[in-house]
Amino acid sequence: MIKTPYYLIDKAALLKNLEKIAYVRQQSGAKSLLALKCFATWSVFDLMQEYMDGTTSSSLYEVKLGNTKFKGETHAYSVAYSDDEIREVLDHSDKIIFNSIGQLSRFKDISEGKTRGLRVNPQVSTSEFLIADPARPFSRLGEWDPSKIETVISDVSGFMFHNNCENDDFERFDEMLTFIEERFGHLIQQVSWISLGGGIHFTGEDYPIDQFCQRLKAFSEKYDIQVYLEPGEASITKSTTLEVTVLDTLFNGKNLAVVDSSIEAHMLDLLIYRESAKMAPCDGEHEYMICGKSCLAGDIFGEFKFKQTLQVGDRLSFEDAAGYTMVKKNWFNGVKMPSIAIRQLDGSIELVREFDYNDFEQNLS
Ligand SMILES: *Cc1c(COP(=O)(O)O)cnc(C)c1O
Repeated sequence: MIKTPYYLIDKAALLKNLEKIAYVRQQSGAKSLLALKCFATWSVFDLMQEYMDGTTSSSLYEVKLGNTKFKGETHAYSVAYSDDEIREVLDHSDKIIFNSIGQLSRFKDISEGKTRGLRVNPQVSTSEFLIADPARPFSRLGEWDPSKIETVISDVSGFMFHNNCENDDFERFDEMLTFIEERFGHLIQQVSWISLGGGIHFTGEDYPIDQFCQRLKAFSEKYDIQVYLEPGEASITKSTTLEVTVLDTLFNGKNLAVVDSSIEAHMLDLLIYRESAKMAPCDGEHEYMICGKSCLAGDIFGEFKFKQTLQVGDRLSFEDAAGYTMVKKNWFNGVKMPSIAIRQLDGSIELVREFDYNDFEQNLS
């Protein structure tokens, strides 16, 4: 048995998302690039690259990883590139998308001949959290003024819009795309590709995927453009669990169980967005608050129901632990970093990465 804590990626579950992604390409013509900032566990890229068209990135290191580990196209994007990294970024990418006209002008000469794009901020989004809202007031994410963008149109051949966020509502997606067309349609007419970014939950169970495909197809035909999607969460949703073991139980007015992991170190997004972890099944008459082992008072995964009382040594499994977890895990409190394991398509489980004290020490100086 593999020692906890570990993330367990289930390739069969991953495949369900990937098949939907391939279906969207086949039906709509839109290509999908994995957003590495959400998920960059390259040990499963062998499977993912068969169904997706490549990767997109937020930095030099991500673009390098995408270029070396994932076949297909490699898009480069970053909020801002520095002078000393731009050469390497260009060498590792097929397309570069600048965040601002300032960056585009600054690197115009060095990127001559490269397929270039510009991020456009349509000033509408679906984010419910200000911290994750690209259209927040005073946002630095992309240019928003059509008349300013028009002045550099001959320097780019495409645009990137990323304004969806955990959006599982097709109507809302459709509305916002229509808004984008009304405001930027005359500019879209002049380019050959458009990326619609990530944040669209089109691999979800009840998502009207055929309507989505039709909308994308109509959009691409109307302007004669190649459409790209940049799914992060939608590519890997529900594919992974975080496996942990109960180390202690307490009663302090509530039943508590402490596990060998930490929400702050291993599932940080749940803490940032103040969401509970998920566990299934979650029924029975014994209710426990499941807590992490760091000394942060609020290191709490959530409250869950169990059929039996929990005992030290019991194993628990948090669901939906792929997106924004492994890319964000950290050494807070020196808590042992979860290993990474893969359930292969034949059912066998392979441990692909372990971390130890040396990794902790090497991460500091
Ligand atoms: C975050 C991000 C994505 C991926 O978003 P998901 O919500 O994980 O699908 C794609 N493109 C850009 C530009 C992003 O910033």
